Amino acid sequence: MSLPVILVTGGAGYVGSHTVLELLNNNYTVVVVDNLVNAHKDKGADLPEALRRVERMTGRTVYFHSVDIQNKEELTRIFNHYKIDCVMHFAALKAVGESCQIPLTYYQNNITGSSVLLEVMKNHGVYKLVYSSSATVYGIPQYLPLDEKHPTGQGCTNPYGKSKYFVEEIMKDLCSSDPLWAIISLRYFNPVGAHESGEIGEDPLGIPNNLMPFIAQVASGKLPRLQIFGSDYNTHDGTGVRDYIHISDLSAGHVSSLKCILKPDYTGFMAFNLGTGKGYSVLDVLKSFEKACGKKLPYDLVPRRPGDIDSSYADATLSKKTFNWTATKGIDDMCQDTWLWQQKNPNGFKSQ
Ligand code: NAD
Ligand code: UDP
Repeated sequence: MSLPVILVTGGAGYVGSHTVLELLNNNYTVVVVDNLVNAHKDKGADLPEALRRVERMTGRTVYFHSVDIQNKEELTRIFNHYKIDCVMHFAALKAVGESCQIPLTYYQNNITGSSVLLEVMKNHGVYKLVYSSSATVYGIPQYLPLDEKHPTGQGCTNPYGKSKYFVEEIMKDLCSSDPLWAIISLRYFNPVGAHESGEIGEDPLGIPNNLMPFIAQVASGKLPRLQIFGSDYNTHDGTGVRDYIHISDLSAGHVSSLKCILKPDYTGFMAFNLGTGKGYSVLDVLKSFEKACGKKLPYDLVPRRPGDIDSSYADATLSKKTFNWTATKGIDDMCQDTWLWQQKNPNGFKSQ
């Protein structure tokens, strides 16, 4: 019997490409739609570079289509062509700072895009979806570790975070309206690292906003120094604490949740945390990265970044209990694999 066909939106991106790899390694058939707004494809190539490498690594085919999820006609054509069993929905714009400058673009892409996708799914009788959500929906933590019962939507300070929260609300309403729907929302903590081969990884456009890719570029000499945003937080060393999760653990979490949602009797909306449950400070991460690259890295302590919180880390017991997933990799693996990816691909997926 052939395994289910999974439609992956945003599958050429960072989390999507690692999950496509994991899906292919688990023998699923994978169809990807991505509009390449944040993914690199060489001129004349059939596939975005990340997916070309995924095909090479797995020896399997990725059915790729350059489609914007806001385009109902094109999406309908995809659903007419393939018999989709479940959708994994990664496609979104994700830069927090940019979302404050162009909120309408973010709401349109992330919210309208998601509702067009859900509508086309419904029209084709496809009712199973795994959604990429974020721990940002919890806003300022009222307690730690954050479990799925923590209130959401309060204190989401930017349009990106709000768009993740609003889409979850739309999905909850949809599941309440019709028991055929089965939606799993995966709330990621801080995904970092790269596949252990160093073949695929995170390829941010321009100067990275996030800590790990920034440190990697300081280590490679592309950027001069790390700026540590805030050293007076209520944490063990004064710098911000986060729950960093290795991208391979995160992709494995998607496949575990997929096996659960594909069960014929699984219905309704449920949210699950994907995190390790451990918090590391900026200085902890820096120290681990120095170990990985074998040199001291220069940094400055500078004022806090607006909107940042002291600490965030997950209670991930619900994911363990429900689909038997737990993170296996630690901060040293995350730094080593980021460093390998950075060294092998100083220009990311671009050949120059
Ligand atoms: P990414 O930018 O690397 O990947 C997103 C992909 O979606 C890109 O390839 C982009 O081209 C595509 N895309 C965007 N809008 C689209 C549209 N309208 N139609 C078709 N394709 C479109 O981002 P990522 O880090 O891989 O994030 C994937 C998902 O995970 C996003 O939904 C993001 O909000 C969520 N998430 C990411 C993080 C993180 O730190 N990386 C944390 C929490 C949640
Ligand atoms: N951070 C930092 N310098 C940077 C980028 C991030 O000190 O150049 C800190 C940030 O203040 C936070 C942590 O690193 O405490 C993680 O930030 P990131 O942007 O990676 O993820 P976030 O948790 O904000 O989504």
